[in-house]
Amino acid sequence: MISRLAEGGEWDICVIGGGATGLGIAVDAASRELRTVLFERFDFAKGTSSRSTKLVHGGVRYLQQGNIRLVMDALSERGLMMKNAPHLVRNLSFVIPNYEWWESPFYGVGLKAYDWMAGNLGLGSTEFLSLEETLIAAPTLDPEGLRGGIRYHDGQFDDARMAIHLAMTAADHGAVVLNYFSVEGLLKAGGNICGVNVKDAFASETYEIKAKAVINATGVFSDAILNMDDADAETLVSPSQGIHLVLDKEFLPAETAIMIPRTNDGRVLFAVPWHQKIIVGTTDTPVGVASVEPRAQSDEIDFVLQTMRHYLMKDPSYADIKSVFCGLRPLVKGGGKTASLSRIITSRFQTQD
Ligand SMILES: Cc1cc2nc3c(=O)[nH]c(=O)nc-3n(C[C@H](O)[C@H](O)[C@H](O)COP(=O)(O)OP(=O)(O)OC[C@H]3O[C@@H](n4cnc5c(N)ncnc54)[C@H](O)[C@@H]3O)c2cc1C
Repeated sequence: MISRLAEGGEWDICVIGGGATGLGIAVDAASRELRTVLFERFDFAKGTSSRSTKLVHGGVRYLQQGNIRLVMDALSERGLMMKNAPHLVRNLSFVIPNYEWWESPFYGVGLKAYDWMAGNLGLGSTEFLSLEETLIAAPTLDPEGLRGGIRYHDGQFDDARMAIHLAMTAADHGAVVLNYFSVEGLLKAGGNICGVNVKDAFASETYEIKAKAVINATGVFSDAILNMDDADAETLVSPSQGIHLVLDKEFLPAETAIMIPRTNDGRVLFAVPWHQKIIVGTTDTPVGVASVEPRAQSDEIDFVLQTMRHYLMKDPSYADIKSVFCGLRPLVKGGGKTASLSRIITSRFQTQD
């Protein structure tokens, strides 16, 4: 790959960032026979793309926000991912425990609509569960006050492996995908971006890469690239962090996940089986500056533990936490709470033409 870089010449597409977005763009571009190069400054998926809840979802919560088009798109992508990468995506059932009388009809109707919108890309029908069926599916749920539950289906995937496989697929289609290559500056001609300056972190060598189009797919770090173009450019990203706790499987000894549709700060919380453990999350905490190694705050850990204590028979404590991981959402700046800010950031294309 490095020797192909040294050959020089102009590339059609240069992608900055080797997370889900950048690698997906590289697969798309290379499979259209565009001469494609991608640079990632650390490991592929070092950033947000290895720190997710690992769900391939159709965006149940966007249904609550009335964003039907986004849900339809996400459900269709979920189906395509299942077809294209069946070794990395699996069908997972989720139980929503119902402690209030209105929860079953309220969430049930929404999830039936979700099934209907998935059409023939659906993963299974939503079912209303009795109290006994709910406890068979999720035996560690606190039975006190439990009235029943709803079971629905969504996808689960290995986010980091998916990124590696996207890198391999892009390379199969002829792309050059290099990690430990950091973009340090932008090349310009006549005021337009015409390439990047990139540094090989191991050899400390720098390269000038000419490209017809440069794509900024650096997630929460997008503003740093934007400011390489224009130091005074208005920043776009409002990072928000989300944490996950890894707990022992004894807290959910089943192949079913639990979904808490509304925590007391209005978020969705998941407890999901993952490699003989469970992962529980997440939070939504605005942070001022994006860092490469974000840290979970103690009040976020307390919040996740306390929420789970409401629902489980055995209360998880600090001593039960096997590990914690934390990721940053690249939300688009705007007013309001982070939970309502757009998850979609349009990559900035700039071409010579
Ligand atoms: C807590 C949490 C839970 C989530 N759960 C889910 C989920 O269950 N399902 C789901 O679909 N989505 C989920 N998401 C969203 C999803 O993870 C993100 O949308 C996605 O990972 C963003 O990918 P990205 O490629 O845009 O960013 P990133 O993965 O952050 O990639 C950007 C890359 O750019 C690199 N970079 C930065 N600067 C440079 C430079 N100068 N030169 C070269 N490279 C550079 C970085 O090192 C990084 O690897 C979750 C997000 C969070 C935070």
